[in-house]
Amino acid sequence: MRPFAYERPTRLDAAVGLLAEHGADARLLAGGTDLIIRLRDGTIRPRVVVDVKRIAELDADIGTADGHLRIGARTVMTAIAADERIRRDYRALAESAAVVGAVQIRNRATLAGNVCNASPAADTAPALLVYGARIVVAGPARARTIPIDEMFVRSGVTTLTSGELVIAIELPRPTSPSGSVHVRRTRRRGHDLASVTLACAVHADGSTRLAYGSLGPRPVLVTDETGVLADPTAPDDAKRQRLDALFAGASPSPSSMRASPDYRLAMLHVLGLRAVRTAIARLSGAAEPR
Ligand SMILES: Cc1cc2nc3c(=O)[nH]c(=O)nc-3n(C[C@H](O)[C@H](O)[C@H](O)COP(=O)(O)OP(=O)(O)OC[C@H]3O[C@@H](n4cnc5c(N)ncnc54)[C@H](O)[C@@H]3O)c2cc1C
Repeated sequence: MRPFAYERPTRLDAAVGLLAEHGADARLLAGGTDLIIRLRDGTIRPRVVVDVKRIAELDADIGTADGHLRIGARTVMTAIAADERIRRDYRALAESAAVVGAVQIRNRATLAGNVCNASPAADTAPALLVYGARIVVAGPARARTIPIDEMFVRSGVTTLTSGELVIAIELPRPTSPSGSVHVRRTRRRGHDLASVTLACAVHADGSTRLAYGSLGPRPVLVTDETGVLADPTAPDDAKRQRLDALFAGASPSPSSMRASPDYRLAMLHVLGLRAVRTAIARLSGAAEPR
């Protein structure tokens, strides 16, 4: 690991100043569960690491405001998985946070770090996509908000510009009843990134939002407005046909070590149908399929 300077600002403007001063030579550190690995293996070699954990404006609170739920940038997976409001209204997000790594990782890993690391396999990304999350960003220019479906570019790259950092993630308050779920496939239990990670939300108005990761350079959101997926009486064959069309753009990398493209695509369809069934059951209060 190349030696680097360690800065721990307590104010947002100081952090923004450090990023402006050091540019591409600076890296932000939150929980460090991704960053430390990349520092150790030398894939990144910053001269300055800026720890965000003492910045007052980046809190670890989950609160309601102006029609949305606000999750501060220092909020860790354990807190997200345990929060009653998230478990009730954004269940797929609670479920995805609950499967990130193991307890020790979840106690350190932040939601903001999971988003900013921009892994195509990030487990919380599909849930954030189906709920239409917004990323609140501060930087040298005025603060701005990035819709989550405009955040990811490719592995490790987001649409954050030089000197910007995430201060919070907002989830719009649900406007109609919905049932939602997160599912994933890993090679083995325990510490492993997903071969397929997927979230689904079925709404009472007949629309369905599905998002999946690990099948291309970034997580992808697709929506079904035909009502077929949300219809509890529609036959599985009709739902499969709809999923075939929605998942047509999935393009898993042939070079990934975790699973072959064919396996990932097959699992995407299996998990997609399972997720739709579970989300429908949750919406209607029926027993969940096993
Ligand atoms: C053993 C192990 C198991 C794991 N299992 C999973 C898993 O199952 N699923 C999964 O999705 N991930 C998994 N991960 C990856 C990791 O835990 C998550 O991506 C985590 O959420 C990253 O958050 P962090 O706070 O640790 O980020 P850090 O490592 O501190 O930062 C990650 C990236 O985000 C940037 N960053 C952090 N905060 C901000 C901010 N506020 N503004 C702008 N940029 C910022 C950093 O500069 C860095 O580039 C695992 C990691 C390990 C080590």
